[in-house]
Amino acid sequence: MKKMICITCPTGCEMEVLCDGDKITVSGNRCPRGAAYAESEIKDPRRTVTAVVHSGSGKFQSVRTDKPLPRPLIPGLLNKILKENYPEAEPGAVIIADIEGTGVNLIATGPAR
Ligand code: SF4
Repeated sequence: MKKMICITCPTGCEMEVLCDGDKITVSGNRCPRGAAYAESEIKDPRRTVTAVVHSGSGKFQSVRTDKPLPRPLIPGLLNKILKENYPEAEPGAVIIADIEGTGVNLIATGPAR
């Protein structure tokens, strides 16, 4: 059994999650979204990534993924953007498209500074 806090809304239900093969049983959730969150966390955990990238001109630009990225891919993305420079882009522009074939893009969220 695994204890988990649902972060889908501010209530923060404390849940107990029991995995038996493919069957996942969730208790402690006050609504169905908690069970969906627990199942996602067990089977395919994802996070929205926020970071800054370097531009070639010595400025930094804030970025985020436009959808949650599978957690195992996050360290590789952060290592990549740490080592490379990216051209300055308008807020909302795609900085890295289709990260690792996931369909998730890294987009600029503010002007380069
Ligand atoms: S289970 Fe429902 S009520 Fe509880 S934190 Fe998740 S979304 Fe909110």
